[in-house]
Amino acid sequence: MGFEEERRRLVSKLIREGILKSKEVIDAFLKVPREEFVPRHLKRLAYADMPLPIGHGQTISAPHMVAIMTEALAPRKGNKVLEVGTGSGYQAAILAEIVGDEGHVWTIERIPALAEFARENLRRTSYARRVTVIVGDGSKGYPDAMPYDRIIVTAAAPDVPEPLIEQLAPGGRLVIPVGDSFTQRLLILEKRHDGSIIKRWGTYCVFVPLIGEYGFRERDH
Ligand code: SAM
Repeated sequence: MGFEEERRRLVSKLIREGILKSKEVIDAFLKVPREEFVPRHLKRLAYADMPLPIGHGQTISAPHMVAIMTEALAPRKGNKVLEVGTGSGYQAAILAEIVGDEGHVWTIERIPALAEFARENLRRTSYARRVTVIVGDGSKGYPDAMPYDRIIVTAAAPDVPEPLIEQLAPGGRLVIPVGDSFTQRLLILEKRHDGSIIKRWGTYCVFVPLIGEYGFRERDH
């Protein structure tokens, strides 16, 4: 079976399970080649619904977790999106596919070698012009391009970093796994147009820690 057929099967499974729901997210999953975002020797596992190692002790999240987070984020065409935790660049590519040429994705990674891995993957798959990869501590956000319509954090935080709330546009939405460094729960935060904040909890999950000024300290985990 070729990668395209494997991709279609994975998408059908995620739809059957009620995880993939909206047309935008389904179309993006059908389009972005996950095999281009995993290390070469793991390509045959690209469409297994599991996280895979990408080096430096980090992972590309399992497809069902990317699906859950993207559905919760509800990105739209033309949105400005900030991702914290670039990893392989796969989540950024899914977001770039949805926001289209009218939108843009800024994604921050603290490990320079992974930022370079993501840049190459994004270049090869032609998403590079819609995605800016930055090296830095994303727990402080990226004020240079604020405000963002959507912010997604793909590493576990002890709480929602205050700078991310500040950098969210009115009417915007932020999705982040919050908990200790072993298990977390997704938190979906919305900033209303009057500036008030509403929060709701989603599924339990397990992410690698967000390490930085507003995350965990390196020795905490
Ligand atoms: N979204 C990624 C993908 O699609 O492959 C998976 C992200 S991986 C689960 C979490 C990433 O967050 C790791 O690459 C890790 O180095 C990064 N990270 C942890 N703390 C960070 C911080 N303060 N700023 C930016 N990136 C951070």
